[in-house]
Amino acid sequence: MGNGANLDWENLGFLYRETNANYVSYWKDGAWDEGKLVEEKMLTISMASPALHYGQQCFEGLKAYRRKDGTIGLFRPDQNAKRMQDTCRRLLMPEVSEEKFIEAVKMVVKANEEFVPPYGSGATLYIRPFIIGVGDNIGVKPATEYIFCVFVTPVGPYFKGGMTPIKMVVTDYDRAAPHGTGAVKVGGNYAASLLPHEIAAKEGYSDCVYLDPKTHTKIEEVGAANFIGITKENVLVTPKSPSILPSITKYSLLYIAENIFGMKVEERDVYINNLDEFVEAGACGTAAVISPLGSLTVGDEKHVFYSETEVGPVVKKLYNHLIGIQYGEVEAPEGWIVEVK
Ligand SMILES: *Cc1c(COP(=O)(O)O)cnc(C)c1O
Repeated sequence: MGNGANLDWENLGFLYRETNANYVSYWKDGAWDEGKLVEEKMLTISMASPALHYGQQCFEGLKAYRRKDGTIGLFRPDQNAKRMQDTCRRLLMPEVSEEKFIEAVKMVVKANEEFVPPYGSGATLYIRPFIIGVGDNIGVKPATEYIFCVFVTPVGPYFKGGMTPIKMVVTDYDRAAPHGTGAVKVGGNYAASLLPHEIAAKEGYSDCVYLDPKTHTKIEEVGAANFIGITKENVLVTPKSPSILPSITKYSLLYIAENIFGMKVEERDVYINNLDEFVEAGACGTAAVISPLGSLTVGDEKHVFYSETEVGPVVKKLYNHLIGIQYGEVEAPEGWIVEVK
């Protein structure tokens, strides 16, 4: 047993900490091996691995939550498994079955139970599954061998001291091409986002908003999160585009809005010159659930949504309901919570 139980849960931040065990499975000669837990955090791979040169790699991100009744729950891991399969098909990588994916995640969480932060701390156990193409392969072609890994690390509450609106700015850079890899979770999209993020951060913004790469007139992604907006008519709107990464958090919020709160939901174009249609806005993803968008700067004009200091009522209501489901305080729709025993 490590020293997990003694961590300062509220002040963990978002960084990698070594834990008890990681999962590793190898793919060779057309099949995945059984996979196993290892203590080692280092991987030994060929210098000629395609993951290192041509970006043949992908990842996922999800969390384990210590729930009100003391159990540990995963939030919709089947959705992460399916999305990773979509990514693998796009990059010609071998898929990991949903069963193998969920089993691997459960094994690692179970082996690191003491690192799952206590209920009420706001901290969670972040889970990072990934696949890399390895082996000796200098030509531009798919790898002949792959490694599927899962590791975990405890992370602090996203909103320390309460939810606060963020400021963003529109960038001229694109994170993905119109029919490129924007809709799949690959590291290359993130490499492309480092520079625009740094420019935005230097100007005092949390991150930048990407417009659609073809016409630069419509909102695509807000940093590494999906956009949601609430109209004056109480409709939850989110952009539709083949280069947006389909956020599991976002689709869960759409479901809650429609089925719990009786709101209308729309997936459609969101024009950057029509931000006045929204009375509230937010960025959604696993890390924050929803970051309320206080303002968005477009060129030299700043558009304020609900408020730069206060969180709007609809964003707050959706956020509370979703985290209530994750922490076992609110009944979950069928199949959303997978217990780790
Ligand atoms: C992972 C990711 C998201 C959020 O997806 P969730 O499944 O909600 O965590 C949004 N945008 C991008 C670009 C991402 O990589």
